[in-house]
Amino acid sequence: MELCYSDTTITSSSCPSPLPPLPSPVASPCAACKILRRRCVEKCVLAPYFPPNDPLKFTTAHRIFGASNIIKLLQELPETQRADAVSSMVYEANARLRDPVYGSAGAISQLQNQVNELQQQLAVAQAEIVNMQSQKENLMALICMEKWNNIIPHQHHSYDNGCQTNMSFLDENLGSLWEHVWTQ
Ligand SMILES: [Zn+2]
Repeated sequence: MELCYSDTTITSSSCPSPLPPLPSPVASPCAACKILRRRCVEKCVLAPYFPPNDPLKFTTAHRIFGASNIIKLLQELPETQRADAVSSMVYEANARLRDPVYGSAGAISQLQNQVNELQQQLAVAQAEIVNMQSQKENLMALICMEKWNNIIPHQHHSYDNGCQTNMSFLDENLGSLWEHVWTQ
């Protein structure tokens, strides 16, 4: 009888089998053991990663990988890597349920396409900024020339109107260019 349980809180009368010594069952089984309908013990390899309040996590991983594969994988890994491995399996399982053909690779490729598209848009926008900066510099040079011409006394009257016309054209032109960039 003394071989059955090392835990003294369990009465010897409840011992179901004499050999070998069994680990103590826990009061609240982990989600995995509950779903698998097996006895959850103190050193259950699944318990730290599948708490009883989150049964969906195990159900998802179990559907794709199977309980025995999950247990086998966790047993092969050092404890420090097990939480990450479980997160990875649950993530992959969710992706595989959404996209049975490509799983998480499908999501990665979709995101990669989005990155490529956005990089192309960014390159176009940057090229337009460079283009507009050079246009602005050209226009500024023109304005300077106009001002320089305006200080010549005999041309003063005729250039005054011309300069104003050019300035309003400049404002309209820049406004439409900015609109063009932001609506890309
Ligand atoms: Zn368990």
